[in-house]
Amino acid sequence: MPFVVHGLPVSQGIAIGRAHLVSHALLEVDHLLIAPRHVDAEVIRLEDAAAKVRFELRALRETSASAQSEVSAFVDLHTMLLGDPMLVETACKLIRERRCNAEWALVQQMEAIVDVFDNIDDPYLRERKADVVQVVERVLKALLGHPGHVTSKRGKDDGLDTIVVAHDLSPADTIHFKDSQVSGFVTDVGGATSHTAIVARSLGIPAVVGLRHIRHIARDDDIIIIDGARGVAIIDPDERVLEEYRLRRSAIELERTKLKRLKANRAATLDGLEISLQANIELPRDVPGVKDVYADGIGLFRTEFLFMNRDTLPNEEEQFEAYKTVAKAMGGKPVTIRTLDIGADKNLSSGGPRPETNPALGLRAIRYCLAEPQMFLTQLRALLRASLHGKIKILIPMLAHAHEIDASLIAIEQAKAQLRAEKIKFDEAIPVGGMIEIPAAALALGIFVRRLDFLSIGTNDLIQYTLAIDRTDEAVAHLYDPLHPAILRLIAQTIQVGSKAGVPVSVCGEMAGDKTFTRLLLGMGLQQFSMHPTQILEVKQEILRSDSTDLAIKVGKLLRLDEPDKIREAVEKL
Ligand code: PEP
Ligand code: MG
Repeated sequence: MPFVVHGLPVSQGIAIGRAHLVSHALLEVDHLLIAPRHVDAEVIRLEDAAAKVRFELRALRETSASAQSEVSAFVDLHTMLLGDPMLVETACKLIRERRCNAEWALVQQMEAIVDVFDNIDDPYLRERKADVVQVVERVLKALLGHPGHVTSKRGKDDGLDTIVVAHDLSPADTIHFKDSQVSGFVTDVGGATSHTAIVARSLGIPAVVGLRHIRHIARDDDIIIIDGARGVAIIDPDERVLEEYRLRRSAIELERTKLKRLKANRAATLDGLEISLQANIELPRDVPGVKDVYADGIGLFRTEFLFMNRDTLPNEEEQFEAYKTVAKAMGGKPVTIRTLDIGADKNLSSGGPRPETNPALGLRAIRYCLAEPQMFLTQLRALLRASLHGKIKILIPMLAHAHEIDASLIAIEQAKAQLRAEKIKFDEAIPVGGMIEIPAAALALGIFVRRLDFLSIGTNDLIQYTLAIDRTDEAVAHLYDPLHPAILRLIAQTIQVGSKAGVPVSVCGEMAGDKTFTRLLLGMGLQQFSMHPTQILEVKQEILRSDSTDLAIKVGKLLRLDEPDKIREAVEKL
């Protein structure tokens, strides 16, 4: 029976494929032999985890109401399986008899139960083994307390693409999809500007997050349609709906083909103002996509993706090669490389910042780099060495304090001095800029324009920190509002102050690539945008239809408004 689930649209387009339910917890179970004196505690640990899941399921049952009877049915089934003595009780016996850790005992018992299910003739009952696995995963997650790593292996090989269905995905998981057959993904949780969503957009793969119960509703190999623009997932669609979506997918492809005609056009407004349209990238292999749309440069290279999904940090040589490859490939066009912005939702497998209560407010980005001077120096040396092979600019993330800018500049000077002493050449005049993504920075711009060569507004974090909403949390996603008057003022003010001081300002957050904001940003005086390469042509089309003088007048008036409806109406009319 077809089932439509609504969530947050995070990456446009239509994907049609077979569901691949990814499991986190099952992949990271340790096999440990425990000391006899710890056996009781291990049993209690498993019982506590099961109790926690029972509680979670009860809460889920209460929130899923009668309108979602499919969800309630799953929850009831899972509660029943969890309560079956065959599962947790028998696993507790295994802990005592074999002295294995709780996770291992649970997985052994799950495998025994799944074997029984596999031999059942009734197809309906046989399918219930997936429910057993899901229940075990929930308990394992409660035991482990954190998500693991995702693979994108395929189920049925019938030529259909794979749609990854997960409770949650980290940006590190998502970046793997670059090398795989995954044509879209859907998750229970997540926010529209989470890094996971950003990676999806940069891959150009449709995605919907915040679907709440999709991981429970979908089954492996179900056909799923993702409508990335509407934020909808359709599970098990009938042939009529499938046909409609195939047609819509073709229409989108046709529109993209039409846009391609704009590739070689200069991005200039009707009144002749030239606008620089640059690209955001995560890895050197994104460069062909950048060149394909004739971007004017790279406005944001998020280097943290070079550091993720590995056990050790990349050394200077490896980083140098990556930066050099990008600089050379861009053939003299600017390449803005941001120093490591690790922390919050982007984590290192090799340790990194310690667990924090509020990671987005913790030792993230430049704070982490300044706390790890050797690691920072290695990156700066690699960046400086690569600067000889192209037009590299260094961008520092998450700055708020004058002393952080000063410390960063001192670190750059230190790296330069080392290279000079080693007679290694680099661009002595390499520009250094700062991200404006903390409200304090946008309100104290003097500190920035006096010390730095350029600024780049990170609207994703600027919105997160100004409105105090976690960008990864779907529960507060409805409060994530780029048109909040406070946000508009901070952006407009940054562009204005930068322009007066002769310090170029760009916007590299998600607002820059959303064509509904192009005219607004142009009217604020923005002349440099950086976005995923896949968004450049759409934004260029908007620019070609705009008159910057006219927009400046209209936006000047709009910025005096503070009623949300009036602002929205004025933006629509621009
Ligand atoms: C931003 O915060 O807007 C930004 C561009 O940086 P990131 O999304 O990588 O945090
Ligand atoms: Mg940011």
